[in-house]
Amino acid sequence: MRVPVMAGNWKMHMNSNETKSFIHDLRGRVEDTEVKVILCVPFTSISAAKDALAGTKIGLGAQNMSWEEKGAFTGEISPDMLLSEGVEYVIIGHSERRAIFKETDDMINKKVVKALEKGLIPILCVGETLEEREEHKAKEVTKHQLKEALKGVRVKEMEKIIVAYEPVWAIGTGKTASPEDANEMAVFIRETLKELYGEETSEEVIIQYGGSVKPGNVEEIMNQSDVDGALVGGASLKVEDFEKIVNF
Ligand code: PEP
Repeated sequence: MRVPVMAGNWKMHMNSNETKSFIHDLRGRVEDTEVKVILCVPFTSISAAKDALAGTKIGLGAQNMSWEEKGAFTGEISPDMLLSEGVEYVIIGHSERRAIFKETDDMINKKVVKALEKGLIPILCVGETLEEREEHKAKEVTKHQLKEALKGVRVKEMEKIIVAYEPVWAIGTGKTASPEDANEMAVFIRETLKELYGEETSEEVIIQYGGSVKPGNVEEIMNQSDVDGALVGGASLKVEDFEKIVNF
C-alpha cells in the first residue's frame, strides 16, 4: 500500500532562525498523522532543521545536489555533504532548475543515479510547460523526461524514488491542474513506469502532484486514484496551511 507523502519545497525562503521556529510550531501539529511529511529546506537551513526535527518522523530533504563527489566545483554541494547533515531526500529536476539554471535531462539523470548510489531518495520532478500542454504534448514531454532521468536506474532503486508530476504552468501561479487532469497524468506516469519496470514496481512508486496545492484543493487532489501526495511550494511556508495540507 502506498503511504501518502506530503513534501514542502521551501525554495529560497527561510533562514536558520525561521526554520527553527517553523519546525517547532509544526511538530506537534502533525505528530499523529499517518502521512509521511518531508521538508526540503535551503542548504543553509539544513543543520537547523536537523536539530529541530530530532525526535519527529518528519523527513529532511534538500532541493538540489551535485552529481560529483568532491573537487573543483565551486558553489556545489555533494551527496555526502547532505548525508552528513542527516538529509534523506533530495528534489531533483525541479522545473525552476531546468528552466532558470538550464539543467538538462542528462544532468538530472546523473543526479538521480548518484543520489541512489549514495542512499538519498530522489524526489524527481517532471512536467510540461503551458505551451507543451496547449500543443497536446504533455504526455510525450513527461514520458521523455522520465525515461531520460531514469536511465541506468534498476528495479530495486526505482521502488524508492518519488516522482512529482508538476505541470510548469501550475507552479507558483495559483493555477492548479484539475484533479482529473492531475490523475490522468499520474496514471500515465505509472503506465510508463510499468513499461520500464513492470507492474509490481510501478504500483509501489509514490507519485505526487505539485502546482499550487493549497488547503482548499488538497482533498480533491488526494481523492484521485493515482495521486499519492503533493509537492508543495508556497503553501508549505505557512505552518497553518501546511498543517491543513498534511492533515487533508
Ligand atoms: C513547487 O515548488 O514544487 C511547487 C509546486 O510550488 P507551488 O506549490 O508554489 O506551486
